[in-house]
Parts: sequence; C-alpha cells; structure tokens
Amino acid sequence: VTPFGRDLPRPSPDEAVVYLLGPGVGESVVIALPDGRFVLIDVCRSGHTNLPLALLDHLGAGRLDLLVVTHPDLDHVRGLAEVITKRRPHELWRYPLEASIRDFVAAWGKSQGRGQLVADLRVMTDYMHTADGDVSSAAYGNLEWRPSASYTVTALAPTEYDKDRAMRVLHRRLTSAPRELGAWMKRMEVCGAAAAGDAPNVLSVAVVLELGSQRVLFGGDVLRGAPSPKSGWKGVLRLLAKHHRQHLLEDLVGVKVAHHGSRGAFDATVWALHSKTTKTVALVAPFSASRLPDAVTLRDLKRFARRLLVSAPHPQLLELADAAGWSPAPVQVLSESMAPLVGLRLSARGAPAQWFATTTAATFS
Ligand SMILES: [Zn+2]
Repeated sequence: VTPFGRDLPRPSPDEAVVYLLGPGVGESVVIALPDGRFVLIDVCRSGHTNLPLALLDHLGAGRLDLLVVTHPDLDHVRGLAEVITKRRPHELWRYPLEASIRDFVAAWGKSQGRGQLVADLRVMTDYMHTADGDVSSAAYGNLEWRPSASYTVTALAPTEYDKDRAMRVLHRRLTSAPRELGAWMKRMEVCGAAAAGDAPNVLSVAVVLELGSQRVLFGGDVLRGAPSPKSGWKGVLRLLAKHHRQHLLEDLVGVKVAHHGSRGAFDATVWALHSKTTKTVALVAPFSASRLPDAVTLRDLKRFARRLLVSAPHPQLLELADAAGWSPAPVQVLSESMAPLVGLRLSARGAPAQWFATTTAATFS
C-alpha cells in the first residue's frame, strides 16, 4: 500500500518536482527531474515505511542518480542502509570528515545504545569502498552535478573554516572517554548557537538546484554557526561573494529551510538575498511536535517568504503561525495522499513555480 495518492504531481519533460517528506522526526527531499533522473537528499522513516523509497517506487523511479547525505544525525540517515542496498545510487555526495565523524558517531551511538545509527552509517562506509558508485565528500564549491544542460546541483556548505573547526574538536573528543561524548554534545562546542544534540550540523552539506533561471536551496541543517564571519551561512555567503557566485542564493523560487526551521539556523542577511526581488516559498520539515519553528522564526520567515509549507501539522503550529501573522492557506490537491509532504513544481520552460501539499501537511500564506 502506497502512502501517496494517485493525484500526487509527477515530473514530465516540461516539469521538475521537488518533494519534502517529513513525518515529524526526520526529513528527506526527492527531486524528480524533467529527463527522468532522480536526486535524493537524506532519508527518513515513518513507522516501518522508508518514505523516500516508497515515493521513488510510487513515481516509478527505476534509478537513483544522486544521493546526498547531508550529515550523520539520525533524523537524516534513518533508512539510509535500505536506500543504498536497494537503489545503488549512481553517485553519492556525503558530508566531509566521514572517517572521524563515523568514529565519533559510532562511539556516541554505542554509549547511547543507538545501534541503528551505527549500522546505517556502516552500510554507507561499505558502499564507499565498493566500485559501484562514485562517492565524493561535499563542501562549499567543490562539487557540481550537471548530467544535463538544463539543470545543475551545486554544493554550498560546509565551508573549510567549519570543517577545520569540527576537525579539531572531533579529534580532541575522540580521545576522551565514551561517556563524556554525550556531555560534549550538550556543551555544543562545535555547533555554537544550536540546540544540544546537533553537533554534526557544523558539517552539514547544503546544495542548490538550478533549473533554467529557477533556483531552489536545500539548506540541510546548516546553522548560523560560530561568531566568525567565516562560519555557517555568513561563511557561505562570504565565499560566494568572493567568487562572484552570490546569485546562487539570490531570488530563490523555494527554500528547504535549514535545520527544521530552528532559531539557530535563521540568518536574516541570507534570507534578504533569497527574496531580493520576489518573496520565496519556505518549506519546513519540523524536527518533532515539540520542536516546531518558534514564534520569532515564524515572524522572520513572514518577512521574506510569501508562503510557508510545513510537512506535518500540529495544533500548536497553527497557533504559533497565527501569532506570527501567517494565515492558514487551503490545501489544494492530493486528497488521497496520506504521508505528510509538501512540494514545488518547477517549469522547465520558465513558467511560475507552483506549490502543493498533502492534507496531512500545513500551509500558510
Ligand atoms: Zn536534522
């Protein structure tokens, strides 16, 4: 039984479709391109259902051309092993410092009894050591995927500065006692302003999709970062400006909001660029019912976004969004769909982008 309705938008030679899946814990993005190629960014599960795998099946995707694993937090890699085993992606972009991170996460996972995370990451490691696919470590500006003249996916984060920062702390911590790892997570030494438990975010990959003149940013869990101008979103922006590539963050059709819409990931300077001449569409997969975007972030998003699509509705979200000035928008289609899902339809011919959501998602204008 597919958790997706028959009326879910599908790609066509004229249209690409972006789907953001987020059952409340975890998130995953499927990009269906006009020429039949598929990109998957991160993996999530809902109960026993591997949501991106189910969606790829539903769309009849016989292939997975590019898999991006932004960072090794459980809410982004749950079900990763199954995707790699069943789909053998043609190309895999992963977060940098994989070996150090793997050791760290393995040690932490063991101390916390999170065996599944360790097992999922081990499958990725095994895959990396086979000749099946093409595996690269993604960071600012180092990877570009352009299998067709009509679209490009470019890696935007993390920056070298954040990689170095993470590297130093990781190595120091890897030599400490395993039981101290949890305390390290809580002390937020790597991630600066982020909430506890988000330490790997400092290494999170972000990518931008360009289809003709339309751009969509997939922010991963990239944060504002450390106070240095070289860290986090301001670091990415600084490098883009230096390399005259600032347009990659400008006038975006849509943004997969970084880090589930957390306060620590919101950067007003970067958002002002996203919506330089027209407001963008913000897509959010909240971390969980208890970790919704807060009222201040919802108000900030209202300044820059013309529509807010949230992949899972919560009664409290309606209240928070209302207080921030958002009005509920009707869910337009997909009455049969069950999985919480929001998305964008992008015309390959330059027609305005359209949004959609399932009845189990929340939409605001
Ligand atoms: Zn996350």
